[in-house]
Amino acid sequence: MNKNDPEFRQTVLVIDDEPVNRQMLGMILDTKYHVIYAGDGNEALEQIRIHKEILSLIFLDLVMPGMNGYELLQIINNDAELKKIPVIVLTSEQSAEVKSLQMGASDFLSKPYDLPEVILARAKHSIDLYEGMNIIKATENDALTGLYTREFFFEYAHQYDYRYPDKAMDAIVINFNRFHLINELYGRIFGDKILKAIADGIRTILKASGGIACRYDADAFYLYTGHQDNYDVLLEQVVSCFRKLLKTPEIRLRMGIYPDIYKATSLENRFARALQACNSLRNQYTTTYSVYDMDMHEKSVYSARLLEDFEHALEEKQFQVLYQPKYNIRGNRPKLCSAEALVSWHHPEFGRVRPDAFIPLFEENGLIQKLDRYVWREAALQMKKWKQNYQMTVPISVNVSRVDIYDPDMPDYLLSLVQENEIDPHDYLLEITESAYTDNSQQIVQVVKDLRKDHFRVEMDDFGSGYSSLNMLTSLPIDALKLDMAFIRNISLDNKEMRMVELILEIADYLNVPVVAEGVESEEQYELLKNAGCDIIQGYYFSKPVPPEDFSQLIAKERSQDNDD
Ligand code: C2E
Ligand code: CA
Ligand code: CA
Repeated sequence: MNKNDPEFRQTVLVIDDEPVNRQMLGMILDTKYHVIYAGDGNEALEQIRIHKEILSLIFLDLVMPGMNGYELLQIINNDAELKKIPVIVLTSEQSAEVKSLQMGASDFLSKPYDLPEVILARAKHSIDLYEGMNIIKATENDALTGLYTREFFFEYAHQYDYRYPDKAMDAIVINFNRFHLINELYGRIFGDKILKAIADGIRTILKASGGIACRYDADAFYLYTGHQDNYDVLLEQVVSCFRKLLKTPEIRLRMGIYPDIYKATSLENRFARALQACNSLRNQYTTTYSVYDMDMHEKSVYSARLLEDFEHALEEKQFQVLYQPKYNIRGNRPKLCSAEALVSWHHPEFGRVRPDAFIPLFEENGLIQKLDRYVWREAALQMKKWKQNYQMTVPISVNVSRVDIYDPDMPDYLLSLVQENEIDPHDYLLEITESAYTDNSQQIVQVVKDLRKDHFRVEMDDFGSGYSSLNMLTSLPIDALKLDMAFIRNISLDNKEMRMVELILEIADYLNVPVVAEGVESEEQYELLKNAGCDIIQGYYFSKPVPPEDFSQLIAKERSQDNDD
């Protein structure tokens, strides 16, 4: 539907019972439009009904045997759908012009015909007027691909719905995995070439199925197009237009579809769902599509519920803080050295909700800071309690979300928290996930430095899962590395994973920081890590995260063993 694309042709219908007249007008229009013909009123009506979605303009001869032009004009005008197609009447009598305009025609052409240029100009004028696009703005098209820009896309998609309210439409989002690789490997010019090839493919699809499309941003395309029965074919159509150019298998296309479901929800919602389907394929290693389905719907309804219930849950103390012990294994027996505070949600309806289900959600929706502060406070209070009950300090580590890093009040909040509870900040550890360091290393290095200046200890969590460079590690002040669980899961004697772990232990040794291995479940894993020189172990091998009452028993046991030593 992009009329600024030089290759795109709108469809016009010429209705005239005189073959010579049809041919004459057809020849003129053919230079700019895709022309279809009808020789009488009935045939015309049939053509209009078949092509109503793509018809941009009708040329109608008033004088015809059988159903004449006026009758047809009346039928068109009484039909809400057909009415949206402009009609230019063809007439040799001046008197007919006024009448036909009154009956809803948009313009008229007198026979014998004017110059071809005049006819084309009036055709264009009628179409533009009806499409509400007579004011053509320079910004409506993306300069690279010629598709709409995202700003205009939704505006026109709404118009499209208005014009074809009953047409079944699919909302489709197309995106690339690792498109940046194309630019890096072959240069931007080549990257642009690929994007243009895809835009061409999209135009071909639109020509057949109707609809509009835009380049949403760098390598993302949005299509609003007639409902398809077979998305394999659709995907193949898109992929085939750049496959010849690009042989790199690492770069994959993903497509998310929200199929026509009675347009029950707003356009914006339908595209948000198509995007959700598309993003569900983010980590896929094949070129595929995903259709928004009940599972995704339930997931987003579930997420919405969790978000909605958050404030209330906090007030009702549905969030519980569990503690998982960490043991130092350097000596002749494992010694309890600290605990990680892990949040858990006891939802009245859903039961226990795992943090993985809500932490990322809360990070996206600005709730995590509130929850983290709650957990941090609970942990500080707990430390104080244990100190009173057992006359010993159990250092606790809390998780700090990447979002917290951007909170300028965070260090002060933590400082007042430890002061209020008479905790030495050295015993209050902060776990920050490695990937937060790669997000914005400058910001985080500053924040970590500030926190350490206040004597907090900082551990790098999930180490090995991100891509922090060795270079950054050496310039980064941290107090411990927590090995990502994924490494531990598969270690066995002399295998690849084990060598990886040994390498990290060497790096840590060089940096002079202790290593914490988490997710240790078996005796075998424990022995391997101990022999490799790992300092601290956390995992089901010792204990699951447990409520404070149960953790107290671990402390009591530790104390009695201390006394034995
Ligand atoms: P994490 O910081 O890497 O925490 C370790 C996770 O591993 C915890 O999952 C823990 O229960 C689990 N785990 C411990 N030992 C084992 C083991 O031997 N085997 C296996 N399979 N798993 C083990 P959990 O409690 O489900 O927490 C998941 C993630 O949620 C945490 O990963 C952390 O990133 C986040 N999280 C938890 N509590 C908080 C919090 O209060 N604030 C923030 N911002 N994030 C939190
Ligand atoms: Ca952690
Ligand atoms: Ca971790």
